Amino acid sequence: MPEYFGRYGGQYVGEVLKPALVDLASAFAECRKDKKFLAEYKDLLTHYAGRPTPLLYAENLTRALGSAKIYIKLEGLANTGAHKINNALGQALLAKKMGKTAVIAETGAGQHGVAVAAACARLGLRCEIFMGAVDAARQQPNVFLIKQYGAAVNIVNDGTKTLKDAVNACLKRWSACYADAHYLIGSALGPYPYPDMVKFFQGVIGRELKQQIFQRERRLPDVLIACCGGGSNAIGMFAPFLKNKKTRLIAVEAGGAGNKPGQHASRICRNSPAGIIEGYKSRFVQTADGQAQPTRSISAGLDYIGIGPELAALADSGRIEFTLAKDAEVLRAYRCLARTEGLLFALESAHAAAAALKIIPQLPKNKIAVINMSGRGDKDIFITAPALYKKEWLEFLRQETERLCG
Ligand SMILES: *Cc1c(COP(=O)(O)O)cnc(C)c1O
Repeated sequence: MPEYFGRYGGQYVGEVLKPALVDLASAFAECRKDKKFLAEYKDLLTHYAGRPTPLLYAENLTRALGSAKIYIKLEGLANTGAHKINNALGQALLAKKMGKTAVIAETGAGQHGVAVAAACARLGLRCEIFMGAVDAARQQPNVFLIKQYGAAVNIVNDGTKTLKDAVNACLKRWSACYADAHYLIGSALGPYPYPDMVKFFQGVIGRELKQQIFQRERRLPDVLIACCGGGSNAIGMFAPFLKNKKTRLIAVEAGGAGNKPGQHASRICRNSPAGIIEGYKSRFVQTADGQAQPTRSISAGLDYIGIGPELAALADSGRIEFTLAKDAEVLRAYRCLARTEGLLFALESAHAAAAALKIIPQLPKNKIAVINMSGRGDKDIFITAPALYKKEWLEFLRQETERLCG
């Protein structure tokens, strides 16, 4: 069945939502072949998102590690600061073609919410972002940004008041409003056709990379490394290389603070079992009785319990190798890249960098490796600053509080 990837995937939603997903799948099947749609999408990517994003030869890091030649794909230079805009623009444009006037979306850390709100502002669509109350409190800067783009923020007070509750609230709302509204999912997961659709829109990362590296090196790269939450930047980077078995594909999960339940967000490396949650079958960080298990990661964008079904299948088949990076290694990699290359990696992307710092020194000199910098790290200042300079940061917050309350 086309909606399955090996034993994962599917469309596990109530009868009310089936027609919405059937409509969406057929609209997507048409648009992906439609020259006019593709030209409009490309135009947005070029003039609004700022693509193609550069492929940087990381000369200093290459010299420091003394092994394979390292390139870095700078997705973080795209408008709104990460790869998420590629998917947000693609789906928002599709929604418009389908005659929808509004978009709803869930967000956890808030980065997907920011990208969707921006895309909707640009395309003239009404936008409502669902966010768990706990997440909204933790991620005020992103709540603020979402509002700046004119979107409404709908605070969800159900359950644990985090991402999964926002997803459920969104699905429930969508059942009532899909005639006018599109549900814009933020990673390569959810019920079919979302995993395929998100892969298609994020595939621009890999398509550009293939061209850029071929222009510079006249050959394909040997190793690609990307961080993996739901898996959209990883599958987007890997997509055009999946058939070429000579290119090693490495996805990096959040190792968090340790191996115990509740300390990490690893589905593959920590052997999380298969299950059906939020409309699709995949591997989920869960308790023995199938409840969502709390996760932990220094990066807000890699702590989701699920992984895209195609990525889970490619892990089973061995085509994608999985590894993980622990919080402490991630912070070290973040500092290393800032100092050696002048690049401020998002903490999510710094997982890919941390794995690269371990893997690349073991490669022969004639190899070529590419790291995906899925986002830039400005957004993480509220995490990185207190982690690295706690005393100074606390003093700054104290002064600011005093000034505002003063
Ligand atoms: C959201 C996010 C991720 C994780 O999502 P994927 O779907 O796994 O790509 C990674 N990097 C950045 C910068 C993000 O904002």
